[in-house]
Amino acid sequence: MVKVMEYALRQLCEKITEKWISEHIEDSTFHEATGFDDGVRKQLVKQLEKTSDSYKKNFIDVLNEIEVVNRDLEQYYMHGLKIINIDLKAVMGLCAHYENPLHVFFHEMGHAIDYNRGGYERLSLGDSFKKAFSEDIHLLIERLNDEDEVFEMRRIRSDDESRGIQDIFSSLPYLNEKGEFEGEFNNVNVYNLRPRYMHQPDYWRRLNDPAIDARSELFAHISAAQASKKQQEYMREYFPNSFKTFTELMEKSRV
Ligand SMILES: [Zn+2]
Repeated sequence: MVKVMEYALRQLCEKITEKWISEHIEDSTFHEATGFDDGVRKQLVKQLEKTSDSYKKNFIDVLNEIEVVNRDLEQYYMHGLKIINIDLKAVMGLCAHYENPLHVFFHEMGHAIDYNRGGYERLSLGDSFKKAFSEDIHLLIERLNDEDEVFEMRRIRSDDESRGIQDIFSSLPYLNEKGEFEGEFNNVNVYNLRPRYMHQPDYWRRLNDPAIDARSELFAHISAAQASKKQQEYMREYFPNSFKTFTELMEKSRV
């Protein structure tokens, strides 16, 4: 009881406002080549405002522990160097039609949060996220045996906001090939899904256990969904347990 009250009090004292977000984003985090300017800053504050206080806190804390650079044309987080490589200006232009034009940055921040808030191991490798992911994959296996569900999963591919879940759909054949879910998939329907947005086969095949990469990508896609109602709807529909666990992990790792 005391604990709950203390938490509520702390929440009240630390009300995370637009002003708070703006004050805690350090411009020095962003190298010049990323195109970070007042416009990007405003967009970043606007998108962060839509997210939960615990997510905001983790996002800002981790952002201030890393650097954002633009050394090549790729978008990635590299933990060894603690850098996100991205051209924020270009990404915002290409993604102007998304609810969150910076969702690619929120995805890479998801990888950074995963690595930097997990303690000994990444959050996506921990027991709670592993269990949630496994439950969600079993729900997907059931859906794959229902033709109406498969029709719907194919239909939503035309919506760009579904790219996060499509990417995880693209991992299904490789989870089936090597992973712990072997033999349970409806293979015909797995291949019929043919996502429009996905990681390539060599990515899913690079580790002995493709579920490790699938969990890591799902974690980052859930991060990308934080400032997008539509992406959250897709996550709640297809990865409800992982989505819920992500939220719980954000609450726990909030310091
Ligand atoms: Zn990723």
